Amino acid sequence: MSHSKVVIIGSGPAGHTAAIYLARGELSPVMYEGMLANGIAAGGQLTTTTDVENFPGFPDGVNGTELTDKFRAQSERFGTTIVSETVSKLDLSSRPFKFWLEGAEDGAPLTADCVILATGASARRLHIPGEEKYWQAGISACAVCDGAVPIYRNKPLAVVGGGDSAAEEAQFLTKYGSKVYVLVRRDKLRASPIMANRLLSNPKVEVLWNTVAEEAQGDGKLLNNLRVKNTVTGDSSDLQVNGLFYAIGHIPATDLVKGQVELDAEGYLQTINGTPHTSIPGFFAAGDVQDKVYRQAITSAGSGCQAALLAMHYIEELEDQKSN
Ligand code: FAD
Repeated sequence: MSHSKVVIIGSGPAGHTAAIYLARGELSPVMYEGMLANGIAAGGQLTTTTDVENFPGFPDGVNGTELTDKFRAQSERFGTTIVSETVSKLDLSSRPFKFWLEGAEDGAPLTADCVILATGASARRLHIPGEEKYWQAGISACAVCDGAVPIYRNKPLAVVGGGDSAAEEAQFLTKYGSKVYVLVRRDKLRASPIMANRLLSNPKVEVLWNTVAEEAQGDGKLLNNLRVKNTVTGDSSDLQVNGLFYAIGHIPATDLVKGQVELDAEGYLQTINGTPHTSIPGFFAAGDVQDKVYRQAITSAGSGCQAALLAMHYIEELEDQKSN
């Protein structure tokens, strides 16, 4: 049976920051980076984007995959063992914690004294025709990350969604776009009244009620048109936009712990008072898996650091108890 003091599940900025701190703290962390877990490559969501312009230390911006390669190299440099496998089962009910890897669920479990869950989240997509072709070439799921990119400046943009995040993303995009259309499937917004009022009174915003996106079209390189459909009349038409931003929610990767720790209504892991502590001592959560508000690389890295420092304390206490 293979036992580790600290195991990190997930390999985005949260997981790697935790690994760097733990490895430098000589705790020999083991990271399970995932093998296309939830359809995302090892390295996390940043591997699905081109330029990251808001991560400190890169004044000229950095390619998302290059940044995650650097995270990985830094984790390894200090002695993190990185395993390219997906954890498919985790049992937090007894000590040490037990877990199994994909394809080896019938075998003996692996064990750990402490587990940091940093499995991230994935943006919900519409899966309309043209989406794959123009993903990150006019289509994005993060206005804060991508809104300032030149392809969107002074261009008409569209946001899909009717909740608070759609209202917030649309407002944010009015700084850059010439006009922002908000596509709302029904005839009313789900956003809170204050957010809805702000949105509706913004002169740069036009809400298209009862409207859904049907197909993303472009010149082969960049998006320049969206086929939209009125859900009441059934009529389709063209909406000439150079940006399409999805604000229809995220799916946190919490299947491993469902029924074992508290999740909120949207499936996010509920941590204690905004720290990486969970209701189970020795089990910590960091990054987007427990954050539905900020969802940025730097905030994920910050919580990965916090989780590592808490894990170090936890292991120290455990070792003190054993030696007494
Ligand atoms: P994630 O990045 O979500 O990574 C989690 C990793 O864990 C994934 O690789 C996954 O496969 C793996 N994993 C999941 N389950 C398991 C399992 N069971 N076993 C093993 N591994 C598992 N933020 C910015 O700050 N600036 C930007 O410019 C920016 N641009 C973005 C562009 C796009 C298109 C997207 C989608 C996001 C962008 N973000 C940006 C947001 C940023 O990428 C996320 O906030 C950040 O990556 C979250 O980090 P994380 O460590 O929580 O996990």
